[in-house]
Amino acid sequence: MTEIKKVLNHIGGEWVAPQRGGFIDNFNPATGQVFSHLPDSDASDIDKAVEVAALAFKTWSKTSVDERSKKLFKIADLIEANIDDFAKLESQDQGKPWFLAKQMDMNRVINSFRFFASAILQTENECNVMDAESMNYVLRKPVGVAGLIAPWNLPLYLLTWKIAPALAYGNTVVCKPSEFTSMTAAKFCELLPEAGIPAGVVNMVFGTGAKAGDALVKHPKVPLISFTGGSETGKKVIQASAENFKKLSLELGGKNPNIIFADCDYKKMLKTTLRSSFLNQGEICLCGSRIYVEESIYEKFLEDFVAEIRELKVGDPSQKNTFMGPLVSAQHLKKVQSMIQIAKDEGGRILIGGGTPVLPTEFSQGYFLEPTVIVGLAENSTCVQKEIFGPVVTVAPFKTLDEVIEKANGVSYGLSASVWTSNLNTAQSLAKNLDVGTVWVNSWMKRDLRVPFGGMKASGLGREGGRHSMDFYTEMVNVCLTTT
Ligand code: NDP
Repeated sequence: MTEIKKVLNHIGGEWVAPQRGGFIDNFNPATGQVFSHLPDSDASDIDKAVEVAALAFKTWSKTSVDERSKKLFKIADLIEANIDDFAKLESQDQGKPWFLAKQMDMNRVINSFRFFASAILQTENECNVMDAESMNYVLRKPVGVAGLIAPWNLPLYLLTWKIAPALAYGNTVVCKPSEFTSMTAAKFCELLPEAGIPAGVVNMVFGTGAKAGDALVKHPKVPLISFTGGSETGKKVIQASAENFKKLSLELGGKNPNIIFADCDYKKMLKTTLRSSFLNQGEICLCGSRIYVEESIYEKFLEDFVAEIRELKVGDPSQKNTFMGPLVSAQHLKKVQSMIQIAKDEGGRILIGGGTPVLPTEFSQGYFLEPTVIVGLAENSTCVQKEIFGPVVTVAPFKTLDEVIEKANGVSYGLSASVWTSNLNTAQSLAKNLDVGTVWVNSWMKRDLRVPFGGMKASGLGREGGRHSMDFYTEMVNVCLTTT
């Protein structure tokens, strides 16, 4: 029998049990077996973490840019040196295949630290000479204790996308990872002393959103919240933080259109569309879950897409050729299955998938689902309008540019879109008219860390990335200097 690990909170450089709460079972989604116990922390643990983070802020905020940069580079090096262990743990905890945990998640974790370690060395301050006596310059100050809340789909990747800039710009942090995926966040804390990060600068409080997350959002001594998660939870975060006028960055849900024109590079589009539909079991906020195909190639696309899907391997995440592992939790699997049922009830036709793949006994209790394609749904149907966040896509034909723009914008979300065409005019027209934060033309999920990342409408508030992260994780003071 495998030993069940017990995770503790990491507060002020110490590993501590939750003050009042007990522990929560954490499951390996591939086997459905309990894999670790996590603290069920509450407001008392958050209070303690905020207290030590506020104390550590007094010194960390005064360290030189050079010193912070060196330490962030060191964190990146340490994760790189342990990349296989991190990837394996992320895969066990989240369900994603090992190859993906390593190639995507961990590489992006490392890149984030290196990017912000380097960015802070190259920042120039704004200065304006006003007249013969006066000049204005902008002083940037760290904000204070940053509250960072992350979801379960890209656990360490999205958490460190917040930690790296927060620390780089001189803040200290209290983090609340998802209760479904906390393991790599705990492992990350083990590296902090070797990276030279002082105790109290990074604090990790594990537990549920309702208890630990809510307490962090409401805490009066946490002036900034960076939250990634669902849109409904995002609304609660806005309401709970309003009392204290917090700085907020909200990266929320998506229902992204993948728009395919007949003049595209078909082979490249098909290969990428498989990934944008089902990578990470479709549990990426940027997945293209609504596919719109120009009418003249609609039937061909469906045939080819289904043929490619038949070749995708779903199963043991530790196998090199596995493309899709299990969904993250039993609850989430149930939710996605119920959406497929709703699609059927609303007149949709399941072209492929919808069921549970046949796998060896070891995985019989795992949360697996076949990649699923649904056609024939009306635009106002539930599965076209609501985020499913699983390996499920809808496909529909379109005739004109105006028609597809209207369909693409016809949901409450506005995170990203992919557009496949060799016509620059078409691409430009879509880029101007789609109400989303990112438009990929002839690609998907290419990330340049300098660019603004975020969504419109129910997909979020604010942007992070490059100088936008600097704006978020610092307060600007305009200093007007006049000679006497
Ligand atoms: P949730 O909104 O359920 O949870 C996100 C985080 O918030 C978790 O750590 C959760 O804790 C916590 N939380 C829950 N309730 C509260 C609360 N009242 N106050 C404070 N924190 C709370 O999202 P999921 O974890 O299910 O993640 C999936 C969602 O995230 C999808 O909608 C997806 O689109 C979105 N997402 C958006 C991204 C973007 O960049 N726009 C990127 C990745 C995902 P716990 O779960 O432990 O209870």
